[in-house]
Amino acid sequence: MKIMVSACLLGDNVKYDGNNNYNQELVDFLKNHEVIKVCPECLGGLSTPRIPSEISKDKVINEEGTDVTNEFLEGANKTLEIAKEQNIKVAILKRNSPSCGFNSIYDGTFTHTVTKGNGITADLLSKNGIKVLNEDNYKDYFKRRVMTENKDYVIKKLCDLKYTNKRLTLPLGWKDNGDPFYRDFNNISGLFITGATGTGKSVLIDDLIISLMYKNTSDEVKFIMLDPKKIELGEYDGIKFLLSGKSHSTLKKGYDMLIFLLKILESRINTLNKNNYRNIQEYNLKANEKWPDIFLFIDEGAKIIKMKDTHLVLSKILDYGLKVGIHLIYATNSYLKDYASSKFINKFKYRITFDLTSLEQEEYIDIEDASFLKGNGEAIIKSSNGEKFKIHAPLVTDEEINEVVANNK
Ligand code: SF4
Repeated sequence: MKIMVSACLLGDNVKYDGNNNYNQELVDFLKNHEVIKVCPECLGGLSTPRIPSEISKDKVINEEGTDVTNEFLEGANKTLEIAKEQNIKVAILKRNSPSCGFNSIYDGTFTHTVTKGNGITADLLSKNGIKVLNEDNYKDYFKRRVMTENKDYVIKKLCDLKYTNKRLTLPLGWKDNGDPFYRDFNNISGLFITGATGTGKSVLIDDLIISLMYKNTSDEVKFIMLDPKKIELGEYDGIKFLLSGKSHSTLKKGYDMLIFLLKILESRINTLNKNNYRNIQEYNLKANEKWPDIFLFIDEGAKIIKMKDTHLVLSKILDYGLKVGIHLIYATNSYLKDYASSKFINKFKYRITFDLTSLEQEEYIDIEDASFLKGNGEAIIKSSNGEKFKIHAPLVTDEEINEVVANNK
C-alpha cells in the first residue's frame, strides 16, 4: 500500500528546532509499504530551524506572535496535490502538530497543552477522503484491517442472502451475532450512506441494486443512477431497469434527471389526489397500468447537492417519495457540513456509516464511534427513531454483478 508519512517521523531533520521525531517501529512497519514522505511546513516555504507555531482561533501564530497561516495553508495545499498525484488513501502524520495533528493539537498557549482539533494539513487531507492516522494509532488500524480481511464472517456474500420473497425487502448486512438484517423499502424513502473512500459505501449500493434486480422485474422497479465520480455505476449501463438506459456522470445531466424525477413525483401525487388513492400500493391494486417503484442512486452526493435547488428536490423526494414509490439512496464521503444541513440528513429514515475520516463528521451526522470501525464492510446503522447497532454489509462480487447485469440487458 502507498502511505503518506510525516518526514520528521522518518528521521528527516525538518522539525522546528532542526531535529526529528524518528520512530523506529514505524520505519520497520513501513518496510512492507511504499512511502511518500512530506513535511507540509517545509512545503509551505518555512525554514528549518524556525520559531514554533500553534493554532489559535483559526490562525497559525508563531511563538513571537507572527501570523504564519498563509505558509501553513500553502504547505497543506501542496501536500494535498502530492497526495492526489500519488493516489494516497492513508496518511500517518505526527500527532498534535499544527500541520500534521489529527483530532488533537497543541492549544495555542505554547505550554504543551493538547486540545481537540486538526492540524491544517491533516484537516485538508481528511476533507478530501484520506484516512489520517498518527504514530500511535496506525498499528491498531492496520492490524484490524488484516484481521478483518481474514475473517469469513465479515465477508459473507450477497448471494447467501436471497431470502424473503417480499420484493422491496432488502439486505443491509449481518448483525454481530450473525443474524441477517433486512429492511422493507416500502417503509423507507431515504437511506443515507457515508464513510471514507474504500470502506464499503459503493459495495452496499451494489448490494441494493443487485438485490432489487434479483427480486423484481424491470416493470416493477426502475433506477436512476447519478455517478459524478464516473467510476462506480457505469457497469450498469444498458440494463432494462435504468429509466434513461444509462448512469449519468455529468452534473448537468444529473440535475436534468433530478428535475425529470421531480415531475414524475408531482404527477403521481396529483393522480393519487384526484382518485382518492392513499399511496402507490392502492393505486397499483386498482389501476390498469401499474407504476414501478423508482430508486434514485446517488454515489458521491456532495458534488450533486452543491448545485442549485438540488437540496430542495432531494428533500421533496424524502418527504413525499414513500407515498408514490420513489426512494433515494444517497452516498457521500465528503465533509458533510459544507453541503448538507442536519435537517436534510435527519429526513433519512436510516443513516449507515462506514469508517469515517474524522470525529467532527461523526458528531455532525450524529453517529458516534464510526472512526473505530474496521473497514471491509463494517458499519453502524442508526434509524430516525434512535435504533442503533453495528452491521457487516454483504460483499457482492464483480462476478455476481457481471452475471446479473448480463442477464438483464
Ligand atoms: Fe513533522 Fe509535519 Fe511538523 Fe513537518 S510539519 S516537522 S512533517 S510534524
